[in-house]
Amino acid sequence: MPSGYEQEVHGEVATMIVDEVGVIEHANEHLLRLGGWDLKMVVGKVWYDALVPTNVRMTVAQRFGLIVNVRNEPHYVEAPIITPNGQQRIIAWTFTAQHETDHEPFRWRAVGIDVTHWIKERDLLVARIDYETVHDPLTGLMNGVTFRSMVDTLIRSAIEREEIVGVILLNIDRFRSIDETAGREIGDSLLFEVAQRIKRCRGNDIIARWGGDEFTIAVTGIRTKEEVEAAARHIAEHIHSPYHIDGRSFHLHTRIGLSVAPHDGARADDLMQHVSVAVDVAKTLRGDHIVSFSEALGRQIEEQVVLEQELHGAIERGEIVVVYQAQVDAVTREIVGVEALARWFHPRLGEISPTVFIPIAEGTGLIRTLGLHILRESLLQGKRWRDQGYPPFHIAVNISPRQLGHPTFVHDVFAVLATTDTDPRFLELELTESAVMEDMESATEVLQSLAKAGISVALDDFGTGYSCLAYLDQLQVSTIKLDRIFLRSTSHAKDPNALLRGLIALGKALDLRIVAEGVENEEHIARLDHEGADVYQGFFFSRPLTVDEVTRLLDQYGVKSEFDEHTGSPESVD
Ligand code: C2E
Ligand code: MG
Ligand code: MG
Repeated sequence: MPSGYEQEVHGEVATMIVDEVGVIEHANEHLLRLGGWDLKMVVGKVWYDALVPTNVRMTVAQRFGLIVNVRNEPHYVEAPIITPNGQQRIIAWTFTAQHETDHEPFRWRAVGIDVTHWIKERDLLVARIDYETVHDPLTGLMNGVTFRSMVDTLIRSAIEREEIVGVILLNIDRFRSIDETAGREIGDSLLFEVAQRIKRCRGNDIIARWGGDEFTIAVTGIRTKEEVEAAARHIAEHIHSPYHIDGRSFHLHTRIGLSVAPHDGARADDLMQHVSVAVDVAKTLRGDHIVSFSEALGRQIEEQVVLEQELHGAIERGEIVVVYQAQVDAVTREIVGVEALARWFHPRLGEISPTVFIPIAEGTGLIRTLGLHILRESLLQGKRWRDQGYPPFHIAVNISPRQLGHPTFVHDVFAVLATTDTDPRFLELELTESAVMEDMESATEVLQSLAKAGISVALDDFGTGYSCLAYLDQLQVSTIKLDRIFLRSTSHAKDPNALLRGLIALGKALDLRIVAEGVENEEHIARLDHEGADVYQGFFFSRPLTVDEVTRLLDQYGVKSEFDEHTGSPESVD
């Protein structure tokens, strides 16, 4: 093994000794051989004048000039040389200070390694890293980060030309489940093909993979929003036509949002935020929707976000209130139950409908707390009425699908029954057909546990949701609530009562109690009387009322208890 010294003098390492300003005092054989020099040619010259080709000499000189006064650390300088056969080699020099002694002045000792090969690799690597930082490796499209920065530039130049920039965000509907069921490879092929199709539609636009199953397209050279919408429709059409991969066919659906600059915002960040709002809205709609961002939409979403925040404290602040709507016996017109309906009395916005805040609660996971609060409130009120001497009647409480799907749902209900001293038979839970159909298997199980405990279950808005007719005889429900839609006057129908009659007959055949909703006038009552519904609920008898108002109504109509013994206390149900 050659020693370090031998390597330096005879071997593959170039060395030189230069004085404090860079004048060469000595150069080793390897260095001289590399450049085809002899010692006389280089000694006495500033090293970069002697060794470095003229075209880059200035740059190297400047670099050396920067380091030459900093003597307490080694310095790295890359400099090319030209070999005798005209090749350029890159030498990486490390300059280390040789401090002055009594006998020797200050010098730099420079060790040079030929790094030509590495530099090439490094440049290639840098080029590749550059490519990967701006591109998506799977589709070869630009990535989201680059897209965002390009959109800013596009907007600026469009504004100068009095044009607009349209940004389209395209989300592939339920791609995750395709990816999971068909496998990753097919998923990747589909995404690749989607990218190709978008390129075919909008070859001149900037297209990017925004992430996962989302693509963005910046439409330029246009003046109207309609042109962006047309582009979006065109892309959607292409994406919707079938895909054939490995002998299998696939169909993709899309959710598309679009927004335009400068109208919807003059910065890429704003535009991107707006298109994702639009896509979120598109996701809530059925079918392949294209949603354009608008100020109104933005405000609506903003309000929703604010409401979402405020809903958290609304329960504690006592803003969520329960009102009650009477249900009367079809024959005697006495009250047989009340439906608990939630209201949010918002300090700034006034009364907010449950059709607004229940979905928000469902989306944020607050629904369990909210649902339990409403259940507890209504059952406590039921107890107060009983304590005041009114015979027991049904307290009907609406349950959202999200509540039903919660693993502790049954347990929660039993716990509230116990703490409010309520006989399970007094409680009626209202579920919609869609809630039941969403997860038939677990819903069936939940319904069984509820029925076993004596709790009745009503199918709300019956006939309007996904029909679960085929399962109706297997589900443990006791009541169907006919939606008010069936009371609409259908003067053009041959028999305006046909649907009503059919549904009531169906319920009767299955021995179900039939509550008719939305009873608003005498005509409704006449029709229902004719067909034989059991219970009426609607504005004709009572609007949803406060506790005091309902109490007065109880006195006015009287209560007909549907329970044999009034004093039942909750059984142990755990
Ligand atoms: P729903 O359970 O079908 O409640 C009946 C809705 O119809 C109530 O609207 C009620 O005010 C209205 N209504 C009653 N009689 C008539 C009538 O004669 N004519 C007309 N046009 N409407 C009538 P509300 O209170 O706005 O509730 C809407 C929906 O919100 C409810 O529909 C229910 O699905 C949901 N909801 C209400 N409270 C709660 C709750 O505490 N929890 C859950 N999860 N959902 C609730
Ligand atoms: Mg209801
Ligand atoms: Mg209903």
